[in-house]
Amino acid sequence: MPRTTDPAPTDLLRIDDELTDDERLVRDTVRKFTADQIMPHIADWFEAGTVPRELFPELGQLGLLGMHLSGYGSAGMGAVSYGVACRELEAADSGLRSMVSVQGSLAMFPIWKYGSDEQKDEWLPRMAAGQAIGCFGLTEPDHGSDPGSMSTYAKRNGSDWILSGSKMWITNGGIADIAVVWASTDDGIRGLLVPRGARGFGTRNIHKKLSLRASVTSELHFDDVRLPASAVLPGVRGLKGPLSCLSEARYGILWGVTGAARACFESAADYARTREQFGRKIGGFQLTQRKLAWMLADMQRAQLLALHLGRLKEAGTITPEQVSLGKMSNVRTAIDIAREARTILGANGVTLEYPVIRHANNLESVLTYEGTEEIHILALGQAITGISAYR
Ligand SMILES: Cc1cc2nc3c(=O)[nH]c(=O)nc-3n(C[C@H](O)[C@H](O)[C@H](O)COP(=O)(O)OP(=O)(O)OC[C@H]3O[C@@H](n4cnc5c(N)ncnc54)[C@H](O)[C@@H]3O)c2cc1C
Repeated sequence: MPRTTDPAPTDLLRIDDELTDDERLVRDTVRKFTADQIMPHIADWFEAGTVPRELFPELGQLGLLGMHLSGYGSAGMGAVSYGVACRELEAADSGLRSMVSVQGSLAMFPIWKYGSDEQKDEWLPRMAAGQAIGCFGLTEPDHGSDPGSMSTYAKRNGSDWILSGSKMWITNGGIADIAVVWASTDDGIRGLLVPRGARGFGTRNIHKKLSLRASVTSELHFDDVRLPASAVLPGVRGLKGPLSCLSEARYGILWGVTGAARACFESAADYARTREQFGRKIGGFQLTQRKLAWMLADMQRAQLLALHLGRLKEAGTITPEQVSLGKMSNVRTAIDIAREARTILGANGVTLEYPVIRHANNLESVLTYEGTEEIHILALGQAITGISAYR
């Protein structure tokens, strides 16, 4: 066993030995980036409720934007490489991983998968480079878990579209150059590309969040926005369009949260080995050791699950139910670890001097977005019983 001065065994099962050399290179590159560029500032950004827009080109240079897509300046890497990148980004902050997830999986992916050649040429290379920022508008003030009931509407006017309605809780909305907006039409739900500056399109950032503070979250408003016929994504109709994007992003989440869990575990283990009470290290108390042992076991199970799902995704056989299981299970594990870690740090655990309360608060959003925990439970319940309990 390691001496008390060694770092805690965060990968006791040596799961990372199963990674390829390329995947380990992604891990080490992202770790170095976050250590140098993010960790010195993240607590201040979180406290101030800001994140520098300049991070986008840096993430683009590292090849992290749309990295699992091929062509158009994207890195074309495997699903596990993408997952490992998400893990390392979220070990720094869930907001950072959200920036990358939204850009790659929710904004670039629908253009890449369902867009016209012109749409791909216009947006994907700039988005991969971080020179153009995208957002994904599905949720509305009155329609969250049930997006199929959305009221944002696009109606035909000659060959144009007239878009009206609003979207809520949109990551990167206030800084986006292009919004992928899902709207009802006479022809079912369609995806529309709405550029910043389109007449009648406005955004307003949401403040007073106590979670994902180092991430821009916004409302989008569409007041009879006139868009050309070429604004619509030609390759998809119906709810399966946005749901397929969400499945991509949820995959990144089920990896990402294992990074947040690891950061909390490391912080708590480190604290337990140095903090003294009753004349001895609190890491010497059996109650603390029990917490740490379960945190490690749960974290490693989550990492194994992520790697397994990653290999299924690379094989092209992953199903939405498997992604639901991974998102539901790994986010719950991560938030439980963050809260348990918080107790080990005592009062210090509620300050931004340590990363734990920041991760715990961030994970509240991660538990809710991309399908709440309850919605994933219902998806699995339906897969198990054949009965839908949504309505
Ligand atoms: C920080 C942040 C960033 C976000 N970014 C984006 C983004 O970029 N793009 C985007 O489109 N959206 C985004 N969202 C929105 C997010 O996806 C929604 O918040 C989520 O889908 C839940 O919707 P809601 O908040 O309206 O909750 P509701 O749907 O009102 O749900 C409230 C509660 O009721 C439960 N519930 C609802 N229906 C059922 C049911 N049938 N059975 C049992 N329980 C049920 C829910 O699980 C939840 O516990 C973001 C949210 C946050 C917090």
